[in-house]
Amino acid sequence: MQYHDQFDVIVVGGGHAGTEAATAAARMGMKTLLLTHNIETLGHMSCNPAIGGIGKGHLVKEVDAMGGIMAQAIDHAGIQFRILNSSKGPAVRATRAQADRLLYKQTIRHTLENYPNLQLFQQACDDLILDGDRVCGVVTQAGIRILSKTVVLTAGTFLNGLIHIGMEHYRGGRAGDPASISLAERMRELPLRIGRLKTGTPPRIDARSVDFSQLQIQPGDDPVPVFSYLGKPEQHPRQVPCFITHTNAQTHDVIRANLDRSPMYAGVIEGIGPRYCPSIEDKIMRFADKEAHQIFIEPEGLTTHELYPNGISTSLPFDVQVQIVRSMKGFANAHIARPGYAIEYDFFDPRDLKPNMENKCLQNLFFAGQINGTTGYEEAAAQGMLAGINAALRAQDKDPWAPRRDQAYIGVLMDDLSTLGTKEPYRMFTSRAEYRLLLREDNADLRLTPIGRELGLVNDERWAFFNHKLEMMAQEQQRLKDSWIQPQHPATENLNQLLKTPLSRPASLEDLLRRPEVNYADLMAIEGIGPGIEHQQAAEQIEIQVKYAGYIERQQDEIDKQQRHEETLLPLDLDYSEVPGLSKEVCIKLNDTKPQTIGQASRISGVTPAAISILLVHLKKRG
Ligand code: FAD
Repeated sequence: MQYHDQFDVIVVGGGHAGTEAATAAARMGMKTLLLTHNIETLGHMSCNPAIGGIGKGHLVKEVDAMGGIMAQAIDHAGIQFRILNSSKGPAVRATRAQADRLLYKQTIRHTLENYPNLQLFQQACDDLILDGDRVCGVVTQAGIRILSKTVVLTAGTFLNGLIHIGMEHYRGGRAGDPASISLAERMRELPLRIGRLKTGTPPRIDARSVDFSQLQIQPGDDPVPVFSYLGKPEQHPRQVPCFITHTNAQTHDVIRANLDRSPMYAGVIEGIGPRYCPSIEDKIMRFADKEAHQIFIEPEGLTTHELYPNGISTSLPFDVQVQIVRSMKGFANAHIARPGYAIEYDFFDPRDLKPNMENKCLQNLFFAGQINGTTGYEEAAAQGMLAGINAALRAQDKDPWAPRRDQAYIGVLMDDLSTLGTKEPYRMFTSRAEYRLLLREDNADLRLTPIGRELGLVNDERWAFFNHKLEMMAQEQQRLKDSWIQPQHPATENLNQLLKTPLSRPASLEDLLRRPEVNYADLMAIEGIGPGIEHQQAAEQIEIQVKYAGYIERQQDEIDKQQRHEETLLPLDLDYSEVPGLSKEVCIKLNDTKPQTIGQASRISGVTPAAISILLVHLKKRG
């Protein structure tokens, strides 16, 4: 049965990748269909109810800078906001927000239902329609054939999903949702490299059974931060605190005594789990000498009693989960509302993707999110937006777009995946970005909003806000350069209280701001110097640019040097075993990855500078 309409872009899956992919394509004016199992679960957070964190917050800000929906949704649904690493340098500062799970889902659904050019359709996708090696639509569970110029697949943990609780296991996409079996089987017939990964989630606890007087309280930041560049604290719902408890010797004994009932340690689970978000049984075994692990107790929302104990993800049997939870301070009588579990699922080797997220073997098919071997809502959202953009570009026969590693964490993410692949769930960290001083949360808009505008992703409201900020910055930067304070200036007495060494000769306000002990707000609070600008984002940007100018310039020089390699293309059909002089190991690695540029080739482990020189000579000879 043929669907009554055709599309430019069909997005399969309404998770964090799918919703950003669909909205990005729709923003670019494409007729877009979001096909998902269940409209009720659009934007559902499968695991912890939180957005952001180190590296992840950077991705969310980048998605927001290009008009994406995640940051604005969390501004409407966040019940606790914090800036992590606030005392460290700006490159590693990161926003994190605890979400009201229900409010988040409602906000995403409301956004999608009112999005121009976007239609929602509830059906499972069971198959892809192929014309040779070109994908041109999907077939749903009810046998409905829907044609489209491009398809973006974002099936998350659902493909061949297998849930484990102790030695019991059953099929599922996540707790309460069906696995995607037909589509997974169909994908296995296609020329794709497929592997298995695993992730897990902790049991949820009923707050009424917890003794909070025994827990350490952890409030949010004051003033309350926002996520979106357009966000306002007034958009946030009521703010609540989180809490902290710890595991102890008793918890660790329970886990050790029951390891033979852990599907992971008994060898029942084949997939590899996230190294940076390990299960509690993994932590106890890997860090055997640690006497306690900190566990954050996070509310799941304002209208539920459920708590998320962040740090005790487990696939141990339910009776063991009860013992683990009740061993912790404050939890002696705790009632578990939902058991923890692990899930294994299929993922596709991301080295089979081009940097624009299109599959190398199947044209017009784009992959995003957990199916590419990543973990996390933010990593999924970033990939989703990039895939949505490129599906839209393809549908219009336009050139692809992918950010470079020095432009965005999204670029780092996609380059890491498509170059190196992954053997374990990949999550973002600031340490993955070699140019992290340039890729800060605070300047994601400066890096990406103009590109987003050009691509058709940024609406007039965001564009006007952005340009006003630029104007404010330019005016104030000029004033700081032009305003000089003489030692005999009436403001000097107050100024000297800020300075480590008193002012002995004339200095511009810019010079003064460059001093490590001076910040913009304190400087502007001095009568005769301030009041400065009220635009907080512009003021923050000015301060960072002044203080870190030297480092930023040095990093820019390095980028300029590397640029030549990034622009030297390698043919996709090059058989590296025919390049004279390359070692067998290097040939295998290059043939496995088929890098698109010399820059990408140089980042494959084992591809030496000597091998790069050989490749450059070979390219020259080929002409
Ligand atoms: P998902 O959010 O899984 O969304 C997939 C969507 O696709 C769903 O809407 C689904 O219904 C739909 N779908 C699937 N197949 C079909 C089909 N055939 N037809 C139509 N629709 C389909 N992340 C962390 O960062 N840390 C963690 O500790 C962590 N633990 C996790 C524990 C568990 C048990 C699970 C399930 C996930 C965990 N995650 C964790 C991962 C996080 O949930 C994902 O990274 C994120 O949700 C991925 O987003 P996505 O859009 O790729 O997929």
